[in-house]
Amino acid sequence: MAEPELVDVVVVGLGVGGEEVAGRLAEAGLTVVGIERNLVGGECPYWGCIPSKMMIRAANALAEAHRVNELAGSAQVRPDWAPVAKRIREEATDTWDDKVAVERFTGKGGRFVRGSGRLDGPGRVRVGEQVFHARYGIVLGTGTRPSIPPIDGLADTPYWTNHQAIEVEELPESLLVLGGGAIGLELAQVFARFGVQVTVIEAADRVLAIEEPEASDVAAGALRADGVRIETGVRAGRVSHDGTTFTVHADGTGFTGEKLLVVTGRKAHLEELGLDTVGVDATQRYLPVNERMHVTEGIWAVGDLTGEGAFTHIAMYQAGIVVADVLDHMRRTKGGPDASGTASVVGGAAGVASAVGGATSAGGSTAAPGSADYRALPRVTFTDPEVGAVGLTERQARERGINVQIGYADLTASARGWIHKAGNEGFIKLVADADQGVLVGATSVGPAGGEVLSALVVAVHAAVPLSHLRHMIYAYPTFHRAIEDALRNLK
Ligand SMILES: Cc1cc2nc3c(=O)[nH]c(=O)nc-3n(C[C@H](O)[C@H](O)[C@H](O)COP(=O)(O)OP(=O)(O)OC[C@H]3O[C@@H](n4cnc5c(N)ncnc54)[C@H](O)[C@@H]3O)c2cc1C
Repeated sequence: MAEPELVDVVVVGLGVGGEEVAGRLAEAGLTVVGIERNLVGGECPYWGCIPSKMMIRAANALAEAHRVNELAGSAQVRPDWAPVAKRIREEATDTWDDKVAVERFTGKGGRFVRGSGRLDGPGRVRVGEQVFHARYGIVLGTGTRPSIPPIDGLADTPYWTNHQAIEVEELPESLLVLGGGAIGLELAQVFARFGVQVTVIEAADRVLAIEEPEASDVAAGALRADGVRIETGVRAGRVSHDGTTFTVHADGTGFTGEKLLVVTGRKAHLEELGLDTVGVDATQRYLPVNERMHVTEGIWAVGDLTGEGAFTHIAMYQAGIVVADVLDHMRRTKGGPDASGTASVVGGAAGVASAVGGATSAGGSTAAPGSADYRALPRVTFTDPEVGAVGLTERQARERGINVQIGYADLTASARGWIHKAGNEGFIKLVADADQGVLVGATSVGPAGGEVLSALVVAVHAAVPLSHLRHMIYAYPTFHRAIEDALRNLK
């Protein structure tokens, strides 16, 4: 067996988080081995955020064209999936080839190894026959894969996950979508707008069940207007496929479709990572980390597998914390703040830490500098209208015993919503802590719901006093002016 090769850092999994950590540490002058078994860049650029948002952009263009009939004359629209598939193939994914991404990493000085990495005792990672010994640390960024529910018959059918849905070249006539969360709704609306008969089957009593009920109502209404059939409170009991058609059997009835897309959540596969060799429990759903992304001595984790929120912006945020902490650890190991000579390259661990850390002098956070703070975690479901949310929902705030005040404003009743007319559904909902006089959560639904959200993220993150928010000047006639209306309605 080969002798372990000594390097500074080993990163296992080069998705959004892992690639960012590996690249920045390599740029800082460390010897970094990055291990990826599939495509460098991970889920987001090849089967997630980017291609799905290209699909949404195209589908929204169709919807806007239909709105011409209500606003500006008449338009005939003939959807064609071919340009969308071509754009995803050629512009987004290079036909699912990561040559450019690998070169991006090696161009920063990193060493790339294709294969499955696995911990092999403290400080060691094995890839096939190769073993690396990491002098300063190992970073796990292995992400998640679709979580497939144990429904009778499902595993034997050729169901789709997000991979097949993103790679599709020719659309089916009909599609069953199992799961009414963000990914399910986004894809359901896209395919419906391209003429597919879509049925969404959701076990909870509403779609987007983790968001405010008002957001679920608006999203469900918008999808129904696009022709999507939405079935909530339906628990799939069995799935069958007769060679051409899927049937989802549920509660004495059956739903049929040419294809079946399963989007019922994601799962980290900890059992594959050799965590037992370093004394970490591998039977958990996600890998717990502390506020500096530490798993255990010499091991950090980043991204979806930490279970802190399956978003690219979380992976990037955590990556900044990991980079700062690994460099800090390295300096302490070497014995002196300037020992590495690398701090200046990246602005210093403290500099990076303050750039990513939750604590600011603005006073909203109780987190230490360089520590993760998820109070103001933003999330956007890119349906039309978009559903943006930050922090706590009303229910979560009440469950925490907060003295809650709610402010609500209907976007259609705002000046901009009225002007906008076709496609103007939406609202602002504010969740305030009346005792502290700050917002602890907010939801922004509307044509630009995700963009309007940014102001609310600042308010929650920095704990801006409600009195300051009330005395701000909001440009007329913007969608975000509805925030002012909602503030006025707080009670
Ligand atoms: C359809 C869809 C739409 C999405 N849209 C958005 C969006 O609009 N906005 C947003 O913020 N987020 C979105 N996401 C979520 C986003 O894609 C993820 O949060 C992000 O990719 C997480 O990055 P990560 O680095 O944790 O993991 P991943 O991107 O999953 O990367 C993990 C990598 O590790 C590799 N790997 C796993 N095990 C090993 C091993 N043992 N050895 C070597 N390599 C290994 C995998 O091959 C993979 O490349 C979307 C996801 C999906 C599925």
